[in-house]
Amino acid sequence: MVNVRLSQIDLYHVAVPLRSKVKHASHERISSDNLVVRARLSDGSVGFGEGVPRSYVTGETITTTFQSLRAFDAAKAIGTCRNLGEVSARLKSLVLPETEADPRGMAGNAARCALELAVLDAFGHHFQRSIGELIHESEPGRSWSLTAPEPVRYSGAITAASARAERIGAFKMRLYGFKDVKLKVGVAGQDDASRLRTMRRILGRKTDIRIDANEAWDANTVVDQVRPLLPYCPSLLEQPLPHAQVELLKELRPRLGIPVMLDESLCGWPDAEKAVNHGLADFLNVRLSKCGGIFPSIKIMDLAWRNQLGVQLGCHPGETGILSAAGRQVASYLPRIRYLEGSYDRHVLAENLITEDITFHYGGKANPLTGPGLGITVDPAKLALLTVLSEEISYE
Ligand SMILES: [Mg+2]
Repeated sequence: MVNVRLSQIDLYHVAVPLRSKVKHASHERISSDNLVVRARLSDGSVGFGEGVPRSYVTGETITTTFQSLRAFDAAKAIGTCRNLGEVSARLKSLVLPETEADPRGMAGNAARCALELAVLDAFGHHFQRSIGELIHESEPGRSWSLTAPEPVRYSGAITAASARAERIGAFKMRLYGFKDVKLKVGVAGQDDASRLRTMRRILGRKTDIRIDANEAWDANTVVDQVRPLLPYCPSLLEQPLPHAQVELLKELRPRLGIPVMLDESLCGWPDAEKAVNHGLADFLNVRLSKCGGIFPSIKIMDLAWRNQLGVQLGCHPGETGILSAAGRQVASYLPRIRYLEGSYDRHVLAENLITEDITFHYGGKANPLTGPGLGITVDPAKLALLTVLSEEISYE
């Protein structure tokens, strides 16, 4: 058997145009600045990965992701690999120095995610195996991992817009047959109780409606903010407080009358341990880019499940089909994921990097991806079209 190693990575800053403005309590955007990594192996196999650096999430920018990967000898860290088991073992122990140095373990996570996915995709192509198969095989004895992938179901999301646009959005969600819907709350000047009442009326009693405040509220007022929303039976409340106040959730959580999910306060392993050890949450929103890639994300999910916490596998608005595919590979093997977001591709992106359309179907339903690696094809012309800046890093 030939030993294969990583011979080169290419970094791309891509500006992905979005179909419309994405808005929530703290930010809005019309295009998404993403990092794409192309990994090349010594036998010529190629793979792609993606990360979505957001300064207000992990503190990263496109510039810092380039710096992180420029300074890191990924070929040395991965070495030569004779099989996929060796690839996953090396990737599981791969930690960027800035992540190690960060008390929250989040610096470098988007960069690490893009690198990890690209390496997995390239080796997946070399060994003709899917990343999902690799996930299952790299976690032997885990009851939460399936031996064969199953179809998954994504949530719909309604962002804070005009009352009319929101009503139309809710009718679309109902027609489209979504089982789970997320509503963004906490935007100044909006009457969330009346918005939620309208959503409930349109979506019906059976739809699971959860709410996401994106850090909008304050520890002193959060109980009063949440109380008027409870009659409309939201299933859970995501990130009610700014991260700086997250520790207060230990006392506040039982008084809110609704399960709490952490998102902005759950970026790296130390955040996850703190949430579990201090009883800060009922659910964790794990996102591949925010949490550093597939293996760090699975480690957090495992911690959550061992401690009876629920898990959402979330996404960043503006992720291209590369991260959609990675999320699908993970979710289709891990049925314990309670809420799933992502694969909005055709609905959110004005241009995509992949040739396949892997957007979810009616009801948010989607099938597992087949084929080696991530199971998708990156279109070189689209990549060139959306690239703002690129850089080659050779390990030869
Ligand atoms: Mg959120």
